[in-house]
Amino acid sequence: MAARIVVIGSANTDLVARVPSFPAPGESKMADEFHITPGGKGANQAVAAVRAGADVTFVGRLGDDDFGRRRLDELRCAGVDCTYVRLTHNTHSGVALIAIEPSGENLIVVAPGANMCVSERDVTEARNALAGADCLLLQLEIPHETVYHALRVARKEGVTTILNPAPAPSEPLPDDVWPHIDYLTPNQTEMAALTSDLNAPDAESAARALLARGVGAVIMTLGAHGARCLTPDMDEVVPAFEVEAVDTVGAGDAFAAGLGCALAEGRPLLEAVRFANAAAALSVTGSGAQESMPERHEIEELLAS
Ligand code: ADP
Repeated sequence: MAARIVVIGSANTDLVARVPSFPAPGESKMADEFHITPGGKGANQAVAAVRAGADVTFVGRLGDDDFGRRRLDELRCAGVDCTYVRLTHNTHSGVALIAIEPSGENLIVVAPGANMCVSERDVTEARNALAGADCLLLQLEIPHETVYHALRVARKEGVTTILNPAPAPSEPLPDDVWPHIDYLTPNQTEMAALTSDLNAPDAESAARALLARGVGAVIMTLGAHGARCLTPDMDEVVPAFEVEAVDTVGAGDAFAAGLGCALAEGRPLLEAVRFANAAAALSVTGSGAQESMPERHEIEELLAS
């Protein structure tokens, strides 16, 4: 039977313009190229988990507008169960305005809109789906109180929890939240933000401090170097797969979704991290976030290579 995953999080529309250089304040610049693409870490992870082979239910909100209806259609067509996605009337769909310079440097304005309406009540309404899930995937692009509530509910229901703490929070999480996180998947920036109160001399001691606060396992993603797994009795780096990187947007989302899928299927941690590395490596070989999420057979082929 396929792994059952619930993702609670954001869905956005990314409006991407390639510019020769960023405009100064008050200035207008002509873009060389423009495209619209589905994004938002929650929706990215939902699509990535479906492609990786899981049955996925997404809990989130979109505006009752053209972008919202389009994103909802796409998620359904991708095979995501959208029973608990609400179209919200008093605000717009989440949008990210992204300008990219030829160097790859980007400048991003996020207007979260409906994502900020994902509420504790939405989580409670989805409780049946959550109770039947093997794994819950969360990020930090919706109100943090909703994330904390979801972690508590999942703990009560005995569901494995993964928090991808992105974007990096402006302050560490409340003390009582840490023990509800089975797997935490920060990149290096997010790790620093989560432990800014600790004065930890290095990443290892910062991770150990999070384990002492109750996190089950800290899996730090290291870009092209793979991922480092720390539990109370393990510290292992699982190397990345060597690929030609085209666009690393969504790599962290592919990683979290791959990890969730593999753990929900009952794989041991290091094997699950290898699966996540494979999914994420394949995602960086194509452009865009959701479009570049690999299918299960591609992940299996890379793992077997
Ligand atoms: P984020 O995208 O959240 O900043 P990372 O850059 O750490 O996170 O990447 C997440 C994961 O994506 C890594 O752990 C690795 O598995 C994979 N990855 C990222 N960049 C590459 C790369 N250049 N080659 C192979 N795998 C990569």
